[in-house]
Amino acid sequence: MADVEVLPDAAVLIDGERIAWVGPRSEAPKDASIRRQEISGVLFPGFIDCHTHGVFGAPRLDDQERRALGVDYKAIAAAGGGILQSVRDVRERSEADLESLTRSRLETLVAHGATTIEVKSGYGLELEAELKQLRVIRRLSEQLPVTLIPTFLGAHEVPPEYRNKRADYVRLICEEMVPAVAREKLARACDVFCEPGVFTVAETRQILTAAQGFGWAVKLHADELEGSGGAELAVELGALSADHLAAVSDPGIRALGASNTVAVLLPATMIFLGKRSQAPARRLIDAGAAVALATDFNPGTSPTVSLPLVMALGVSQLGLRHAEAVTAVTINAAAALGLAGDRGQIAAGYVADLVGVAVDDWREVAYWMGRGVVSAVWTAGSACPTSAAPIS
Ligand SMILES: [Zn+2]
Repeated sequence: MADVEVLPDAAVLIDGERIAWVGPRSEAPKDASIRRQEISGVLFPGFIDCHTHGVFGAPRLDDQERRALGVDYKAIAAAGGGILQSVRDVRERSEADLESLTRSRLETLVAHGATTIEVKSGYGLELEAELKQLRVIRRLSEQLPVTLIPTFLGAHEVPPEYRNKRADYVRLICEEMVPAVAREKLARACDVFCEPGVFTVAETRQILTAAQGFGWAVKLHADELEGSGGAELAVELGALSADHLAAVSDPGIRALGASNTVAVLLPATMIFLGKRSQAPARRLIDAGAAVALATDFNPGTSPTVSLPLVMALGVSQLGLRHAEAVTAVTINAAAALGLAGDRGQIAAGYVADLVGVAVDDWREVAYWMGRGVVSAVWTAGSACPTSAAPIS
């Protein structure tokens, strides 16, 4: 992960939507028909945000203040906050309203350098409201100059109407929701919040196995608060990724290290929640795991839109080297979405998603905490208009 190649005075040749050549500028093809554009600063592969909950209504400001005053997660939920507050909100909102809110938020992520963004459902927890979120993602993927990867997260929480019959909700997901989402081809992967008090390892296995039956990839919210075997289950199922992992066990670390399942770490979430602990990134890397970083962009626990900020937190909070933080939002984040052969590198044949960063030393991308360092974005070979709006 620490082995990134840095080319000084480089040139990149783009042909259509793909990169055709990259190397020292002195050796660049000299064909007169090539249109040239000089940029100063550093050119990175387009950043890949492999874990967001980008379709939501209002921010959860009361949760933030209650937490600041020491109120715990369960008491916040009992007071009407938490995930279920966003669920009530999304169920009530029109699809058009959700679409316009989500559009402006995703444009902000792009302005901070994200060119491929995974977006989960999971604030519906009933078929129609889940489909509504996924349709918003599909429509925006047709409108925005960015690649959106939709993930079905109907198992984000047990909805209140199923509190006393959770097995029925698991059955509803497996037998009605997953088949309906598959019929409309609205998701590529299925995710489950596998955590004591949310979905057990057995329930998670049941849901993800049903999704695999439809040919989907699977991912898990695993071992966020308690090590409960989520990472081990992710490896057992051949999941693309196991995400969070702040409380992953030693056997979980060993299992991830010996697997192709990417460990997706979300340091902004732990910071926003006021936690003193973070996922054991160094131990995961030393065990051989591929570590990726993501924003976890969501209204309750991580409202950040900036992968460069998350990279800075990766260095300061997780103990990553600068190069490891770059790998974590490019190649490894692509692998967490099953796209590593296609994006995440500036190399011939890869999609021409590129980010210009206005700094002198490439390591500064993970240094200026919270300053907007991204100066230009290209997706599929074209300059991205959203990058024109300066955001800091
Ligand atoms: Zn999440």
